[in-house]
Amino acid sequence: MSATRTFRIASIPADGVGKEVVSAGRRVLDALASHAGGTFAFEWTEFPWGCEYYAETGKMMADDGLETLKDFDAIYFGAVGWENVPDHISLWGLRLNITQNFDQWANIRPVRFLPGVQSPLRKADDTELDWVVVRENSEGEYAGIGGRNLRGRGPGNEVALQTALFTEKGCERIMRFAFDLARTRTVKKVSSVTKSNAQQYGMVLWDEVFDRVALDYPDVTTESVLVDAMSAKFVLKPEDLSVVVASNLNADILSDLGSALAGSLGLAASANLNPERRFPSMFEPVHGTAPDIAGKGISNPIGAIASAALMLDHFGLHDEARQLESAIERTTAAGHLTRDIGGEATTDDVTDAIIEALAPSP
Ligand code: ATP
Ligand code: MG
Repeated sequence: MSATRTFRIASIPADGVGKEVVSAGRRVLDALASHAGGTFAFEWTEFPWGCEYYAETGKMMADDGLETLKDFDAIYFGAVGWENVPDHISLWGLRLNITQNFDQWANIRPVRFLPGVQSPLRKADDTELDWVVVRENSEGEYAGIGGRNLRGRGPGNEVALQTALFTEKGCERIMRFAFDLARTRTVKKVSSVTKSNAQQYGMVLWDEVFDRVALDYPDVTTESVLVDAMSAKFVLKPEDLSVVVASNLNADILSDLGSALAGSLGLAASANLNPERRFPSMFEPVHGTAPDIAGKGISNPIGAIASAALMLDHFGLHDEARQLESAIERTTAAGHLTRDIGGEATTDDVTDAIIEALAPSP
């Protein structure tokens, strides 16, 4: 028998439903490893960081947290934020602290339609819909550049600037990433999204870089679409989409739209990648902490479990990733659905059903 490959994963469930869905994802990955008969294994280290940790220590994560995380093969993340901590502190103190310092500049968010799940889009034949939003994750509208109360203006006259940052290098690397991804897909097409008719500096640079990079990929079809038109296209002509590349803000909004169209935010997976692999990448569901349902055991674990499939791909375990995706499909097709997608199943029911679907047939 060949030696066991062990993948060391840092898990950070953090807050709200993050805890429930990360624990579901861990169970599924461990089941997958046990079926693999010792060819690979996952070694988990869990970190208690998040808003409860903040209440105890005044910090969102340990001071040496990044140093500790640096040597893991991947980070498996839940969701961060709670009412005791302002969003900008919880988000920047933990999640963005990791994505920024580990240079996770590419964020991929697949939009997948699952059998048995009602979509507001659903026509008879759209179960094949499948596209990926590639989000620039390091600059753009979320670069954090700007300021308030400039020149000491008095009450009622405050001015705030929020500046978007576009660098030629930043644009080029995310576009090459998107084109390379398109080459791995059945439909080799990249749609670039901007609002370059109204934002005439950064987004025009984006468009120019896109046209230039496209020349290196003559086998890939391209289009440039304004974000307003792309929002309509998501709803009206989604069969036209394969890889959609957009800046930080635009991709954030489009990927939430995509997951809602697929049936629920609770289904949507994401990966924050450091493609050079100098630092660990981070895998997390797109959804937040869902305070309205947290602690009830009814959250949908599929977004987190599908994120675990992206992590398997990152480890090179492509067959296992496809097995997991197929187990998710068989589970929804068989009607194991949480409430957000119209069923009655609990988080544990769906997780158990996925684990059962993974078991090798006797
Ligand atoms: P954040 O600010 O943390 O991004 P948000 O405002 O985007 O949070 P979410 O926490 O993502 O909000 O929740 C939005 C809605 O989607 C809520 O009604 C929530 O219950 C629902 N939701 C989110 N995740 C899930 C899930 N895993 N299962 C079921 N419903 C979910
Ligand atoms: Mg949100």
